[in-house]
Amino acid sequence: MAHKVVIIGSGPAGHTAAIYAARANLNPVMYEGFMAGGVAAGGQLTTTTEVENFPGFPEGIDGTKLTQLFREQSVKYGTTIHTQTITKVDFSKRPFVLWSDDERIEAESVIIATGATAKRMHIPGEETFWQRGISACAVCDGALPIFRGKELAVIGGGDSAVEEANHLAKFASKVYLIHRRDTLRASQIMQKRAMEHPKIEILWNQNVIEAKGEQQGLTSIVLENTQNKNQSQLSVGGLFYAIGHVPNTEIFKGQLDLDETGYIKTVPGTTQTNIEGVFAAGDVQDKIYRQAITAAGSGCMAALEAERWLEGH
Ligand code: FAD
Ligand code: NDP
Repeated sequence: MAHKVVIIGSGPAGHTAAIYAARANLNPVMYEGFMAGGVAAGGQLTTTTEVENFPGFPEGIDGTKLTQLFREQSVKYGTTIHTQTITKVDFSKRPFVLWSDDERIEAESVIIATGATAKRMHIPGEETFWQRGISACAVCDGALPIFRGKELAVIGGGDSAVEEANHLAKFASKVYLIHRRDTLRASQIMQKRAMEHPKIEILWNQNVIEAKGEQQGLTSIVLENTQNKNQSQLSVGGLFYAIGHVPNTEIFKGQLDLDETGYIKTVPGTTQTNIEGVFAAGDVQDKIYRQAITAAGSGCMAALEAERWLEGH
């Protein structure tokens, strides 16, 4: 028999959808993934340490602990969770059909909350200093005490990089924006903001090729000029990647409308995709805000919209 609601993904969007759907007696079934997209069940928050901007935790909370609490709450209200990755879907007819390596699953409605993965550089030293000076989210981590008053670096030339550099400049003594070319990809208004900011210096035509540090964390990075290949060392207390994200939408290609960068398109102001009964929440459909609380908010919307849709079908 088809499940009323199947949720794919287990970050804040998936679990908030699960809590709402469970409390609406829809008996939701969640496929939380098994290292799907290279991330543990629980989502991107499992890759960070302190989360200081999720309401309800004035002292901050460890990212993995927060995801455990989400999961506990989903289960408490009646969500069934399978630690499996969905590998294929068929949204062409109802009930919808989903497959994992072990199962064929039927669903009357589906909530997609598969998130996105921040791109990494994979340079020497990255693993050693990940979350000990290197981060992929300035908005999330920039205000942490380890970065305050220090010289920091952001890699990238897009809107995210400029936005992150601006954000970091509030707490840092100086921010280097390191870009591999001689023109930014960011929109004109964002470029102007970076270029005119007294604390931001743009280093053009530079690649970061190594991260170095000591026991307590990152202390410097090695740069290589993309034109003459000259190398130099730059002392920084923090390195932020802003080189883009990859939404986890590979299995939906050809079935759902995706934008040019692979994010699921939803009807503005809703979580509805182009297929009735299929909803998308969280980072998989949001390339602007990308925060736990916005993901959770859209997870709530998806469950309420699924509930309403099921009532009419
Ligand atoms: P995700 O958290 O991306 O979770 C999606 C889940 O779905 C993953 O577990 C994945 O494995 C699973 N999945 C994917 N594909 C499948 C599949 N086919 N089948 C089954 N499961 C699948 N935000 C904040 O608000 N505050 C912070 O302090 C903060 N810190 C961050 C630190 C770092 C290092 C990073 C990378 C992000 C941080 N963020 C923070 C952003 C926040 O983590 C994301 O915005 C949020 O987790 C997005 O939630 P989501 O539910 O959309 O998806
Ligand atoms: P983008 O893909 O726009 O930019 C990524 C940047 O990272 C590019 O400058 C790229 O360089 C650089 N880069 C990629 N890979 C590497 C690498 N391996 N080494 C060094 N540099 C690398 O991603 P964004 O996250 O910035 O933006 C995604 C989308 O979201 C865009 O459409 C953007 O407009 C939008 N956005 C809008 C915001 C706003 O309006 N306030 C805020 C944030 C995002 P290169 O340029 O050479 O390719």
